[in-house]
Amino acid sequence: MSTAWLADVAERTVAAGLHRTPIARRSHASGINLASNDYLGLSRHPAVIAGAHAGIDTWGAGSTSSRLVVGTTQAHLDFEDDVARFLGTDAALLFSSGYLANVGAITALVGRGDLIVSDAGSHASLIDGCRLSRARVVVVDRGDHDAVRRVLAQRAERRALVVTDAVYSVDGRLAPVRELFAAAREHGAMLLVDEAHAIGVRGPGGRGVVADSGLAGADDLVVTAVCSKSLAAQGGVVAGSRLLRDHLIDHARTFIFDTGLNPAAVGAAHAALRVLVADPGLPLRLRRNAERLAGALNAPAPDSAVVSLIVGDPVDAVAAAAFCRDRGVLVGCFRPPSVPDGTSRLRLTVRADLDDATIDTVAAVVHAALDTARCSSEVAAR
Ligand code: PMP
Repeated sequence: MSTAWLADVAERTVAAGLHRTPIARRSHASGINLASNDYLGLSRHPAVIAGAHAGIDTWGAGSTSSRLVVGTTQAHLDFEDDVARFLGTDAALLFSSGYLANVGAITALVGRGDLIVSDAGSHASLIDGCRLSRARVVVVDRGDHDAVRRVLAQRAERRALVVTDAVYSVDGRLAPVRELFAAAREHGAMLLVDEAHAIGVRGPGGRGVVADSGLAGADDLVVTAVCSKSLAAQGGVVAGSRLLRDHLIDHARTFIFDTGLNPAAVGAAHAALRVLVADPGLPLRLRRNAERLAGALNAPAPDSAVVSLIVGDPVDAVAAAAFCRDRGVLVGCFRPPSVPDGTSRLRLTVRADLDDATIDTVAAVVHAALDTARCSSEVAAR
């Protein structure tokens, strides 16, 4: 097959300002990092690094096979028990990424002849799970629980699943989880809540939005979480009832056919969870830092670790991010297709371990970057 079309696509992608290049970090200490998901700053915590080492020393560099063959170690099971306890559920199942946890949970819970109501703010991993499931998918506006109710009430399908992020990944705002749960419950549907950006950030001791809403351990509620953000490692979790866990083991293809999470990641994530449990002040420090940064940038008070600053044009957003990087501040830059046209933005993720002086430095650099981006948009418009 000819691949000449790749050049055409590449040309159009570059022309639209949408070409992406992964930028290699040369050292962990290069620059002030406000682009990572290491919300609690635990990825270099000595106990977390020791946890990764212990995982390797005890079990080796890889888990050596899928979980159902010989890829389940006692470390996987111990971590699952502790995560379930932390989240207030009866059980949890560990996948090798948050992406795979979401895809696996959705495709194991619904299929052809079923209905999914998906919040428009859902992360790509939820969207891909919906697509792969072959269920009918109805997307409702972000947070529109009345629309969820209407769709559920009018359905012909017996089995239905509502899916949403707890904290929307693009702008860090909260989804109305309590209302979505009520809507799902009224109409006999399950609710899946992705707590990726909420664990370690929201709720009592960082237990997430579900716990904050008094719904921990509720029937028909499926919680997914990642080990790649506040827990500073890698991996994904689906938490809920024992029946749910057993069902996923039998039916979630991303569990069955994927190699078990590597022991270093299990050890690191478990150690990070222990650090979080021992220091419930960590999420509070994170939220305070986010508020300080947003305040210094005249941005609205954030609900989470994410401070989102809309630039508009993707080329300007990329230039603003490069401006920051050249001054030693790493920030995220989201543009289409991750966000709708015209809403390209800088996305800053705050950490619990930043001090006030660092936050103020970041604010000054980002201010200057946004001023420069605005000037260049004005010149372009003339
Ligand atoms: N859910 C959300 C809301 C996310 O933002 C992400 C990834 N950034 C994922 C799931 C996927 O998690 P992971 O990176 O652990 O695969």
